[in-house]
Order: sequence, then C-alpha cells, then structure tokens
Amino acid sequence: MNDLQSSPDCYFCRVTRGETDPFVFENRSFVGVFDTHPVNPGHALIVPRRHVVSIFDLNAAEQADFFDALRGVKRAIESTDLRALYQEMLHRDYLRDRPKDHIETMLALDFLGNVPDAYTVGNNDGREAGRSIDHLHTIVLPRYRGDIENPKGGIRNVIPARAHYPRR
Ligand SMILES: [Zn+2]
Repeated sequence: MNDLQSSPDCYFCRVTRGETDPFVFENRSFVGVFDTHPVNPGHALIVPRRHVVSIFDLNAAEQADFFDALRGVKRAIESTDLRALYQEMLHRDYLRDRPKDHIETMLALDFLGNVPDAYTVGNNDGREAGRSIDHLHTIVLPRYRGDIENPKGGIRNVIPARAHYPRR
C-alpha cells in the first residue's frame, strides 16, 4: 500500500468510501457498484479501494482479489432485479440533480430482465483510451442478443475503421 490510499477529490475514492452508490459486492481490495449512467442493463463497475490509476499499478494482493471481484459482480448482476434497481435509482436522493435519461432508457428496453447472453469486460487504461476519471474502474457490461445490430469484433470496434477483417 502506498500513501495514495485515498484522494479527497477523487470521485471513485468517494465511491469506495461508501459515499455514493451502494456496494453490490466487496472484498478486501475492491468494491462493485452499478453504474448510474448504464449503457446496458446491469452495467457495473469494479473499483479498487486504493487510489490506483492504472490496472498495471495493482499490487500482488489486488491482482489476487481481482477475479474474485469479477465473479462476485457477475453474480450480483445476475441475481438483481434490474427493473426494480433502475426504478429505485431514478429516486436516489444524491442523483436528484443529475440527468436520468440513461436510466429511463434501461427501463424501456425489451430485454431488461433477461439473463445476460454475454459480457464485455474491460477498462479504459489511460486518457487516450477514453478514461475520464483517473482511478481504475473496470467495466462489467452485460450483453444481450440484439443489443446492437452487429456485435462482431466487440471491443475491436473502439477503432471502427480497423475493427473488421475478412476471415478465410
Ligand atoms: Zn481515487
């Protein structure tokens, strides 16, 4: 553990201190929460308790705890009534002044309530990769048949022009 245990101005440090979203999972090194700007039902985040910027900065104990967190968050996603979650999220006091369109979109999806068909797991490790808050947060994104027209290539599509390639 280093001296950057917690950073007072960091949003995800506030999350790990339990000041924002309720934990749906926690272990020694990580907490899991549902994202309040979900892009798909069950969209969750795994956040290290320590103020760590990059996945490559995790220490040995955190690395050992990471897959426990990943499995725990998956269990939480699949055992949560997501319709009830988003109905409740609409009324959270600390989200009162924030836009709710992502949450309302979830409630209108015809596959809300289905068991996920697949998962996209990853993190934007660096500003150039799209990270907006400099505290590691791994995205656990449930995927559902038909959620986008053509999911082929998945995460390769972050660079759309080079995502697709012909297979022999
Ligand atoms: Zn932090």
